[in-house]
Amino acid sequence: MASALLTTFRKKVKKYRNSYRRFLTRIEKKTPRGLDKIVAPLDKEVWKETNCLQCANCCKTMTPTYTASDIKRISAHLKMTTDAFKEKWLYKERSTGDWMNKKTPCQFLDLKTNMCNIYEVRPADCAGFPHHTKKHFKEWVHIYKQNVEYCPATFKLVEKMKAKMDNL
Ligand code: SF4
Ligand code: SF4
Repeated sequence: MASALLTTFRKKVKKYRNSYRRFLTRIEKKTPRGLDKIVAPLDKEVWKETNCLQCANCCKTMTPTYTASDIKRISAHLKMTTDAFKEKWLYKERSTGDWMNKKTPCQFLDLKTNMCNIYEVRPADCAGFPHHTKKHFKEWVHIYKQNVEYCPATFKLVEKMKAKMDNL
């Protein structure tokens, strides 16, 4: 069953998703000067207000991409060969060649605690998610447009940006 946090989040997504995506498209097309400097303090605020252990929606609904070194590291941690690891858990996305989880929620998520069972060796994609602090926000806007629907932290960041910059 979804937590209260996720139930509220899903209601807000339905209501605001389209307007937040339109806002991000405007940012993409006409990027305000100093955007990265505007985003950085807002992102800090977001993480003061966000507890991923009450959420884990990324692990429940999305798949990370696994690099070759992720696969090597995690397979070794699980004492499996890389081939056996891929065979058991992953598939190769045809269009991009990326290795992804076969299923959601992720097989490494503990659904009772929302903790990752391979946290120390998790894929780099998971460690960096939701990638708010990438050097140039603009280059990642297309990702945030997708993630606004899945990640309460990204949603909150866009909410704060919109409140601050809505005259765009
Ligand atoms: S590997 Fe861990 S952090 Fe990454 S999606 Fe799975 S449970 Fe989440
Ligand atoms: S990164 Fe986003 S989706 Fe993942 S647990 Fe944290 S708030 Fe939830």
